[in-house]
Amino acid sequence: MLAGYVYKLRPDDEQATKMDNWLDMLRSSYNWCLNDRIEQYYQQYICGDYCDLRTKAEACALTCFVSKNGASGEPWKLDNSEVEIIGECCLLPYDLNNLPYSGKTPRRSAGDIQITTLPVLKKARPWFKDIDSTVLQQNIKRLDTAYKNFFEGKGFANFKNKSNFRSFTYASGVRVEGNKIYLPKLGWMRFYNSRPIPDGFTIKSVTVRKKSNGYYVSIRIEDKSVPDYIPLPIEQVNTAVGCDVGIKKLVSLSDGSQVKNPKFSTNKKMRRRMKIRQRRLARKKKRSKNRKKAANVVGRLHQKISNQRTDYQWKVAHQIVNKADLVVFEDLKVSNMKKRCKPKFDSDTGKYLNNGQSRKVGLNRSISDAAWFELRLKTEYVAAKSGKRFEVVPPHHTSQLCPECHHVDSSNRDEEKFLCSVCGYAADADNNAARNIKQRCLDKFNIKLTLKPHIKKEKAVRRDLPEPEQLTLGLILFETPTCEVTRVQRSYVRARNSKRSQRTEPLEAA
Ligand SMILES: [Zn+2]
Repeated sequence: MLAGYVYKLRPDDEQATKMDNWLDMLRSSYNWCLNDRIEQYYQQYICGDYCDLRTKAEACALTCFVSKNGASGEPWKLDNSEVEIIGECCLLPYDLNNLPYSGKTPRRSAGDIQITTLPVLKKARPWFKDIDSTVLQQNIKRLDTAYKNFFEGKGFANFKNKSNFRSFTYASGVRVEGNKIYLPKLGWMRFYNSRPIPDGFTIKSVTVRKKSNGYYVSIRIEDKSVPDYIPLPIEQVNTAVGCDVGIKKLVSLSDGSQVKNPKFSTNKKMRRRMKIRQRRLARKKKRSKNRKKAANVVGRLHQKISNQRTDYQWKVAHQIVNKADLVVFEDLKVSNMKKRCKPKFDSDTGKYLNNGQSRKVGLNRSISDAAWFELRLKTEYVAAKSGKRFEVVPPHHTSQLCPECHHVDSSNRDEEKFLCSVCGYAADADNNAARNIKQRCLDKFNIKLTLKPHIKKEKAVRRDLPEPEQLTLGLILFETPTCEVTRVQRSYVRARNSKRSQRTEPLEAA
């Protein structure tokens, strides 16, 4: 089983400066390698003559960046004695049908080539010798991952700047003893050992990450003897809960309960605080030390928000999973929901009309703040960890479908209230959606639950709907107290009560 543990590091001044320098050097190496690949690609694109060093085979310019005259080093793995290099070309008795490598192509990938040129880099720029060699290699593998993502349809790799290049990874050589960690070429470093690494686990890889309040280390550990989490087989599911995510209420569950959304970054207080801090930053002189300090203050606030959100979501995920054997979410495409509105033109004047984007900005911000996908991932993880099952269903019409008569109509829903226009069934709209989500999953797997449905079948009049009960379990307060009783108030209440008792005593005596 694989697991990831994160700790905060306590480097001394020397180590902190060293890590800062490493990040700068690794960033430049990363950017150089990226530029190298881009240039190679264009060179081949223009010349068209590539990949014919040995096999004379054509390769796609997108997948192969090595050109005959490429400056990026030897494109073949030289572990075969038959290979003989003359100049830049490999000449050997060799044809495509008779591969000497038992079918495996001995080609190096772009990443491999760049890794083998690292010694050249160290010779030309000796200060790179300060960096651990596995860190340098992993840095190039990071670029490989970026290219892999690109070929899978994500965006093209970016050149990195100081703000988006903040981590480096060790592949080996790291040791942990008590509250000290040994990082090669940085030495022993103390860290806050908030939870010990369990026995039997070995360290797979270690990533050091810079955040606005210091350095963190995330350790990937593995124990092959411990089996991975196995989800509950579908036949053993006895209870199920459907979850509908939203903005007013973070999660509405099919059992009628709802989870509050604290809106960590979009609530009034936090927005005001952020606004003030960002304004302070904007008014500082560019490239000044004070600007750096102000930027750090903004960064720390962002980090605080993200910490709060993560903490809350773990708690919510645990509470949801505790409710049933099967947890069902809807498969929302959040990025599509956050898309910009299409521009509107006036056909006569050709001018842009108001398309509602300025209003949507606020909605998009709330969607990002709610971080539904993060919650879904956490719930999935918690469900797997506690031996339960997690499923997703398509989200179409979950909020417009009547669970009683299966009538689908957008007029069924009026903001928070659901009232079927055919059969008159009424419920809270979000809880109703959650119920539909649950039912959709049950239909998909053809499960019949042994327990009774949570929602009572009774028709309510629209205005007399009962308020859904709030989750008040555990640590999370889903309802913040409206007023806190201060000491002065308490003494006032005590005085008032004593007066009352004095007043009542003579009556009783009489
Ligand atoms: Zn109906």
